[in-house]
Amino acid sequence: MRNILFLAASALAAGSANATPPPRMPLPPKLIVAISVDQFSADLFDEYRPHFAGGLARLAGGTVFRNGYQSHAATETCPGHSTILTGNHPAHTGIIANVWVDQGVKRSDLSVYCAEDESAPGTSSSNYKVSPVHLLVPTLGELMKARWPGSRNVAVSGKDRAAVMMTGHNVDQRWYWNGKTFTSDLTGVPVPQALVRADAAIAAALAEARPGLEPTPYCASKARPVPVEGGGQPVGDGVLARAAGDANGFRASPELDGATLAIAAALVDEMRLGRGNDPDLLAVSLSATDYVGHTYGTEGQEMCLQLTELDREIGDFLSALDARGLNYAVVLTADHGGKDVPERQRSAGFPGAQRVDPALAPATIGKALVARLGLKGPGLFGEGSFGDIYLDGHLGAADRKRLLTAAVAAYRAHPQVEAVFTGDQLAATPMPGGNPTGWSLLQRARASYYKGRSGDLIVLLKRDVTPIADTSRYVATHGSPWDYDRRVPILFWRNGFPARGIERPVDTVDILPTLAGLIGLPYDFSKVDGLCLPEAPSASCPSP
Ligand SMILES: [Zn+2]
Repeated sequence: MRNILFLAASALAAGSANATPPPRMPLPPKLIVAISVDQFSADLFDEYRPHFAGGLARLAGGTVFRNGYQSHAATETCPGHSTILTGNHPAHTGIIANVWVDQGVKRSDLSVYCAEDESAPGTSSSNYKVSPVHLLVPTLGELMKARWPGSRNVAVSGKDRAAVMMTGHNVDQRWYWNGKTFTSDLTGVPVPQALVRADAAIAAALAEARPGLEPTPYCASKARPVPVEGGGQPVGDGVLARAAGDANGFRASPELDGATLAIAAALVDEMRLGRGNDPDLLAVSLSATDYVGHTYGTEGQEMCLQLTELDREIGDFLSALDARGLNYAVVLTADHGGKDVPERQRSAGFPGAQRVDPALAPATIGKALVARLGLKGPGLFGEGSFGDIYLDGHLGAADRKRLLTAAVAAYRAHPQVEAVFTGDQLAATPMPGGNPTGWSLLQRARASYYKGRSGDLIVLLKRDVTPIADTSRYVATHGSPWDYDRRVPILFWRNGFPARGIERPVDTVDILPTLAGLIGLPYDFSKVDGLCLPEAPSASCPSP
C-alpha cells in the first residue's frame, strides 16, 4: 500500500519514478543524510534484513556495522539521539535521560524534559518550550557551519527531542511533529512551502479513517493475538488501521515516517540542500517504529508491517535524491534498541520475561523508608521504577546519608533489581572506552552519568524485566543497560561503493568522527569520545 502522504508530496512521487541510480559520485559528498530510526534494534535489523527490498536493502548493501552500540545504560530516545551526531556519550552531552528531576528548578514541576528550557515562564515538563539548552556539546552540523559558512544544518523528525539533539544550537531549519502538526522551535525562520503543503496533506489524511495494511506472507506468518497483563488489549495480529482523526494511530504507523520523509525531500528542493559549494547536513529521525514497538511490541505482525513500509519509504526518499543528481552520503542508525512484550517472549525462549513489580516505584519505596527512618516528606523522587532516583533535597546531610544507605539496601533486596550504583560511585568511575561489549554495568551507567542531573542512585533492573506494569497505553519499551536495548545497526552508504559487512563492535559515538573524515572536517579529538571508522566508504580518518 502506497502512503497517501507520499502521493501528496510531489517531491517524492517524482523521485520514485527513477529506478536507476546515478553513477558513483566523487568525494567528498555535498550532502550528508543522517537517518535515525527510533527503536530500530540490531535484533530487528538482523531479522528483517533478508526481507528488505527497498531503501533498507540499499543501505544494507553499503558498509554495515551490525554490532553498533548505544553503549550507555540509559537507552532512551534523548540520550541516544544526543550521541549520534556529537561523537559523545550522554555523560558528556549532558542528556542523561528523556526526563530528569531538578529540585532546584523554579517551578512546581520538578521534572525537567531533556529538550526544554525550564526557565521559560509558565512551562512544565509536559507543556514545555522546546530548546537545545541542555545539550552541552556541538553537533556535526554545527561544526560544519563553523568551518564552512555556506553549510546548512537541518532536521526533520517525528519527535522534537530527536530533532533538537541531532542538530543542536546553531540550526537553519528544524521541524518536528507535535501531535497535531509539524512545527519548529526556531524563531525568525519563514515557514517553508514544504511544510505548508505537508500540513495540508496530513490534515486531509487524518480526517479520514485509514484501512489496514495488506500483510506480506512473512508478516501474516507473525499474526497471532497475544494477551498482555496489566489491562492492555491483546497485540500481535493488528494491521495498523486507524479511525478518522486518530492522531495516536497516525504516529504509531508508517504515516508519520512518510510525512517526515516527504518534508525532508521537499526541504532538499526548497533549500537546495547539497547544491552549494559547502556540504550540508540533513538529519532525519523516523519515530514510528518506536511508537509501533511501544504500542504493539516488536515481534508481531504490526512491527512487520511498519518495517516493510519503512523500507519502501526510505527507498522512495533515496530515489528522490538520486533523481536530483545529488552527491550525497547516508548514515543510518538508531537511538536505542528495544524488546518485545514479555507475554510473547515467554513463548519464544525467554521464560523469565516479566513485567516490573509496581512496588518498585520511588514514591512507594520512599514512603516506606521515610516512615521507617522517622523522616518527613516523600523521601525519593524518580521518573520510573528504574534509572535515576533522587533523594529529597530538603533533608539535612545526616538524614540524606541514612536515607541513601536504606534506599540502596531496599532496591538491592528486590528480586527484579540487578544493580544499584550511587552517584558518588559513578562520579569516581573513569569514563569507559573501547569495545562496548566488554563494559561492566557500572561502566555502562557511567557513560550516561552527569553530576547535577543524574540521580543520587541509579537502579538497573534484571534482564528481561519490562518496566511497564500498567499496559493500558504502552505494552513494551526500552531503557535498560542490556544489549537488546544497546545494540543497533550503523550503516554507511555512498553510491557505487561496494558492500562491506563488519562484525567488530563499534559505537554510535564513532559516527561523527567517521563523517568528519568523509568530508574533511577537522575537529578537536580531545572533545570527542568516538573514533573514526576506517572501514566506512572512503573515509580518510585523521590521526590525533
Ligand atoms: Zn527512541
